[in-house]
Amino acid sequence: MSRRKKFVLLGATGSIGESTLRVLRKHPDKLELLGVSANQQEEKLRTIVHEFQVPHAHLGTSPKNPEAFSSATTLSSGSSNLNALASHDDADVVVVAIVGSAGLGPTLAALNAGKDVVLANKESLVVGGKLVTEAARKSGARIIPADSEHNAIHQCLLGQEDRALDSIILTASGGAFRDLPIDKLKDVSLEQALQHPNWSMGPKVTIDSATMANKGLELIEAHWLFGLPPGKMEVVIHPPSIVHAMVRFIDGCCLAQLSPPSMTFALQNALLFPERHHGVEKSLDFSANLNLSFTPPCEQRYPCLRLAKQSLAQGGCFPLGFNAANEVAVDAFRMNRIGFVQISNIIDATLNKLNAIEPLTIDELHLLDSQIRETAETVVNSLN
Ligand code: NDP
Ligand code: MG
Repeated sequence: MSRRKKFVLLGATGSIGESTLRVLRKHPDKLELLGVSANQQEEKLRTIVHEFQVPHAHLGTSPKNPEAFSSATTLSSGSSNLNALASHDDADVVVVAIVGSAGLGPTLAALNAGKDVVLANKESLVVGGKLVTEAARKSGARIIPADSEHNAIHQCLLGQEDRALDSIILTASGGAFRDLPIDKLKDVSLEQALQHPNWSMGPKVTIDSATMANKGLELIEAHWLFGLPPGKMEVVIHPPSIVHAMVRFIDGCCLAQLSPPSMTFALQNALLFPERHHGVEKSLDFSANLNLSFTPPCEQRYPCLRLAKQSLAQGGCFPLGFNAANEVAVDAFRMNRIGFVQISNIIDATLNKLNAIEPLTIDELHLLDSQIRETAETVVNSLN
């Protein structure tokens, strides 16, 4: 039997973190958890450390009750220590399941140290796609996509020649308000936006699904992962979330990847790559009535998708601006400071104030990111 893969799980207390731990429970003979991180959920982190006897743990905030952790566990806090955990000498793979652009630093730290990264955190590619892909290229580390659509494309492309790829098609559920009359969108509540029809996910990505900012971020993510221009990437609404993505080849044939809407499939595929083993959950039941419909998204219902495409076409700092403005707007919506439809207004107004420059270093990028967040905050305040 081959040695167990040692992995670090950043963002262990979140939704992707939980799904990753389900994969670990299924395959304790193939995987070993070397380190975990959370931002502020100390107790939940401690429970994970206890269950899996994890030697290294990291908390974003300073721990309130450090003595409750086992003495066999090294507990750290602070962002430089998070980067140290992400590049730990003994790690084979680092799963980045942090939400938002906070995932960029540890993703870069892992790749710079030559660690393969199982990437759920799409924002790091949106914000720093060039830096991230260059770091991987220089060190020879692999970025193995865990976002379900990108993992699907990764699976469909295996064994194919690069020159054979024509385009990709990302599917989208359409989110919580797919069937709501458009004029009712202005009245929806936070609770309603947090009800996803198919997926159980963290709050930010659930709201991003309702606006389809998520699919916009995923187009930008796909651009960096698969090297495709905007004209070679499509989005279709596929309500059951069973086909996760499709790849069209130059001969006109399309391949699709299908599995039930649960992240354990993509995460297991990415973590155990290139091996396949029995899954955590049951596969699809084709004796049931599966209605695999596909329709183009309505631009009026999903202005965030148009804004994301526009930012990708503009390039430079615009995708970074799209992400920063979206994070500020989603936070404001979660704090009941703005209405749902204002999320896209804030992104639009923030992007309109942006000058076309391209940050070349991580420091320039962080500076620009915080400046754009300030601009977006000003836009939020002007709406109140
Ligand atoms: P959650 O909000 O459920 O979890 C986020 C995790 O990140 C938690 O462990 C949280 O710690 C930690 N965290 C939050 N803020 C910071 C920070 N500033 N620094 C370090 N750690 C932080 O998110 P999800 O699991 O839903 O999503 C994670 C990522 O995966 C996102 O980028 C999302 O877009 C992507 N994704 C998610 C999918 C899903 O099904 N959920 C599907 C595909 C992609 P704490 O708990 O202590 O706050
Ligand atoms: Mg996805």
